[in-house]
Amino acid sequence: MSTNVNIDWDKLGFAYSKTDLRYISIWKDGKWDAGKLVEDNNISISEASTSLHYGQQCFEGLKAYRTKDGSIQLFRPDENAKRINRSCERVLMPEIPVDKFVDACLQVVKANEAFVPPYGSGATLYIRPYVIGIGDNLGVGPAPEFLFGVFCCPVGAYFKGGLAPVNFMISEKFDRAAPHGTGADKIGGNYAASLLAHVEATKKGFADCVYLDPATHTNIEEVGAANFFGITNNNVFATPKSPSILPSITKYSLIHIAKEYLKMNIEERVIPIDSLGEFIEAGACGTAAVITPIGGIEYKGNLHVFYSETEVGPITRKLYDLLYGIQFGDVKAPEGWIVKVK
Ligand SMILES: *Cc1c(COP(=O)(O)O)cnc(C)c1O
Repeated sequence: MSTNVNIDWDKLGFAYSKTDLRYISIWKDGKWDAGKLVEDNNISISEASTSLHYGQQCFEGLKAYRTKDGSIQLFRPDENAKRINRSCERVLMPEIPVDKFVDACLQVVKANEAFVPPYGSGATLYIRPYVIGIGDNLGVGPAPEFLFGVFCCPVGAYFKGGLAPVNFMISEKFDRAAPHGTGADKIGGNYAASLLAHVEATKKGFADCVYLDPATHTNIEEVGAANFFGITNNNVFATPKSPSILPSITKYSLIHIAKEYLKMNIEERVIPIDSLGEFIEAGACGTAAVITPIGGIEYKGNLHVFYSETEVGPITRKLYDLLYGIQFGDVKAPEGWIVKVK
């Protein structure tokens, strides 16, 4: 096992790199095996696997953070465990006990400790759990066997020059999810559906697109692969409510912080695209960036600017600093949010 890694932590982006060990567990004959750490980062599966043809799969994303005292911690991994089980249930894959999920993440981080970036670099160890249907199958139906895997790789700070706003455009041509489809689950098909929309948005100079609700195309749903929130001038943190939004753990953590630390009022409700004027700040949130401040959103040829296209609003900044501080161990976390690796 390599214990000396030679990585320029400041230059890391969000890219795959092979670390020492990864976790694999197989479900067969009605149960999961004990799972083990393996060196090989290639997996060999039947060409008839349901994950390859029928999209029977799901994934998660979380991070391990190095704190000032050199210890390593995970942020709310039990929430990722609960969410992967909701995704599994939706596409007929077996449940993973929460303890098994968290233990697999802990094993992978411990086995790759040398790849956990130092405190202060803003870089983290990204953890990618996934479940895929495997085994011989031809007709459309659930797989006979499943693979639960967890790997990790170091990723850089999302905002290298500090938090900065970016612009988004409304996707008028494409939806990422159907009204009663799999939008609320972390399933690869949602991402396949969003690839083209994303590329078209970036070609036009936007960071990504904002999706409207698939049934009526009148309300805000997701911002690329992140959740939307807006701040009103009367101290409200508002975020869309819809059955086709992926419930972001970052978003629910920000809601807690807005309520308990900043004494804001929370509104989870429909947010019509023609009501953007009520927000003095807006952001997108998810594990990758914590918060991406939204400069403006383009809709029908007009760019609606919230706080500023170049400056970050004060409330967005406060929310970001508090959650970032909790994740890296500098701010006291609410009970149960932090799981120590070592
Ligand atoms: C993963 C994901 C998010 C963010 O969820 P977090 O738990 O905060 O990382 C938001 N939207 C979509 C579509 C996602 O897949």
